[in-house]
Amino acid sequence: MGSQRSLLKSLTAGVAGKKHYCKGNKRHVLLKGDRILVIKIERDSFHYCLDCGLKFIATARKDLAALETDLQATP
Ligand SMILES: [Zn+2]
Repeated sequence: MGSQRSLLKSLTAGVAGKKHYCKGNKRHVLLKGDRILVIKIERDSFHYCLDCGLKFIATARKDLAALETDLQATP
């Protein structure tokens, strides 16, 4: 439907299925049942803890705002 693409298709909220570690920091433990941010890149998927995930979102929000401003600027 339509030609608009989602920039964020590769990012989803998930739930940890087992105990493992955050891709952003090995000291961040993801326990079974924890909310996690899942980033899919081609066939790989990377799991981040809630803290790292929220930081990514905050950074992405700033980057998107900056991009929007750049795009609208008169050349
Ligand atoms: Zn983390």
